[in-house]
Amino acid sequence: MQTFHTIHCPNCGRPAERHFLHLDRISRTQCPSCDYLMVQCLDSGRVIEAYAPGLAEPKYHLPLLPRRPAFSH
Ligand SMILES: [Zn+2]
Repeated sequence: MQTFHTIHCPNCGRPAERHFLHLDRISRTQCPSCDYLMVQCLDSGRVIEAYAPGLAEPKYHLPLLPRRPAFSH
């Protein structure tokens, strides 16, 4: 038996799919927009496999700061 829900991707916020694979006692969350993936054990909640691409990281939104040495002489 396999069911899935549409959820918001925790990585990019777009619609993602959460599949429940009851025979294997795992859930698998995957996002087609950013390739986010998380496989989690249904019994223990333990994360078996996780992959979150860096699309939603704030590095693209930060202004480019000039590199400066940490200590001035
Ligand atoms: Zn996503």
